[in-house]
Amino acid sequence: MDFKVATLLKLSSGNKIMENLSGSIEVDWITDECGVDGSVLLMKTDVGIWVSAHLIVTMRTECGSCLEEYKDSVNLQIEEEYFPTINLITGEKNRFERVDENNFYIREDNILDLSDAIGQYISLQSPLNFKCMENCRGLCTECGINLNHVDCDCRNKKKDTKLMTLLENYTVRD
Ligand SMILES: [Zn+2]
Ligand SMILES: [Zn+2]
Repeated sequence: MDFKVATLLKLSSGNKIMENLSGSIEVDWITDECGVDGSVLLMKTDVGIWVSAHLIVTMRTECGSCLEEYKDSVNLQIEEEYFPTINLITGEKNRFERVDENNFYIREDNILDLSDAIGQYISLQSPLNFKCMENCRGLCTECGINLNHVDCDCRNKKKDTKLMTLLENYTVRD
């Protein structure tokens, strides 16, 4: 997820370059690597580089209803400003009034690494409960079977007991 930005940093603000991105990234709460594809617009600002990225992240994850693993994708729209740690003209280290943990910085070798931002955005923009399909039927609360694959008759049994109680009530009333 590295972009060489030394040339862009020397240009005046407003200059931009468009880059394609295709790779994979590790996110600690997702078992397998996530695929990342999309386009990244890098624009020079007065102080650093503005990143505007449209990305599609594909990942293997677990459905919150039926607990089965499946492949899902999340659209990310990243808008962040990156600040250089080295002043390219003087070669000196930039002194920031305070280093903000929420800010992103361009590395000393003039590499802008998008990995951290992508990781954060994946966590922020992923749904709390993944669903393998719109109408996933989930697991049966009685026998635990995956209702997407097979039908069990737990619900019918329940209905039967309900009907029985109803009938019993009727008999009582009679
Ligand atoms: Zn499911
Ligand atoms: Zn069941």
